[in-house]
Amino acid sequence: MRYLIISDIHANLEALEAVMAAARESYDRLLVLGDLVGYGADPNEVVDRIIALEPVIVIRGNHDKVACGIEEGDAFNRVAQEAAQWTRRVLTPAHRDYLRELPMGPITVDDALEVCHGSPPDEDTYIFDELDALRALKTTRAGVCFFGHTHFQIAFALTQSGFETMLPGPNGKDISLDSAAKFLINPGAVGQPRDGDHRAAYAVFDSAHQRVALRRVPYPIEVAAEKVIQAGLPPQLADRLLIGR
Ligand code: ZN
Repeated sequence: MRYLIISDIHANLEALEAVMAAARESYDRLLVLGDLVGYGADPNEVVDRIIALEPVIVIRGNHDKVACGIEEGDAFNRVAQEAAQWTRRVLTPAHRDYLRELPMGPITVDDALEVCHGSPPDEDTYIFDELDALRALKTTRAGVCFFGHTHFQIAFALTQSGFETMLPGPNGKDISLDSAAKFLINPGAVGQPRDGDHRAAYAVFDSAHQRVALRRVPYPIEVAAEKVIQAGLPPQLADRLLIGR
């Protein structure tokens, strides 16, 4: 089975379309790791597109929770809070209800992998560094766990010889899984990368061959950024798309 794994779309329809066009032939099942909305200008359109793609799993992210009213976003900074309030105003009741019903991670899929938004024990916790990753790896059940939330494409492995961090290059990264090791992998953000590469990010996990491909694809960033400005969202949200931070 080949799984397309995407996370942190953040209402960026142009980035989502580019990923789906690039990955169209390379997957059987779609998994979505949360934050469909928040920051970008197309929350209703992105929810509609995700529904139409018939993913086998969609879990919620922290921005989804605030946008649909499960939480108030007290921990958000001013820009995130402004974007969340804007998203609340424009979401239709049907789209709000869809987000409200999304399950919390972690979820095990086909006994092959685990998915979560932040970290396996807590959907709101960030896995930034090796210490965070090591702690999280000790709580995972599956041999490979995919997470999002940091908008940073990266892989960590706990092997018999030690701990390893893998960063993709300009052409991505191909990772061979090893049944004696445990892996924690972030596919990166579709709609608001923060790892210095402004291209949309995604991952494909081939469970038969135990391989993971980390990939990037360019998209019309100027279009998405202009929509952010036209919507009256904070202009910093347009700028950061252009620089990928
Ligand atoms: Zn996010």
